[in-house]
Amino acid sequence: MSMVKDRGEFYVTCPKCGRVIQRAFTTDSYIKCPKCQYEFYTYISDGVAIVMDAAKLEDNRSRSILLTYAKALSSLKEVPGMDLHN
Ligand SMILES: [Zn+2]
Repeated sequence: MSMVKDRGEFYVTCPKCGRVIQRAFTTDSYIKCPKCQYEFYTYISDGVAIVMDAAKLEDNRSRSILLTYAKALSSLKEVPGMDLHN
């Protein structure tokens, strides 16, 4: 995981070199690291943060699986005893 949560805001860092790219409450975007040129995809929404290599998300099917996964993670927050916020 390459994110730090701070007051509901996430710090997005490059998974490869660690450079801080942006701060966001929510995002769904492809990011190219200005330092090492590494391309990755970041999804942040409703307390869920996912980072993936952009090359692995080239087809729409992969992306829809990822969004389904994100939705499932979000719904876990409603389950008692599944507090994901440490
Ligand atoms: Zn980088």
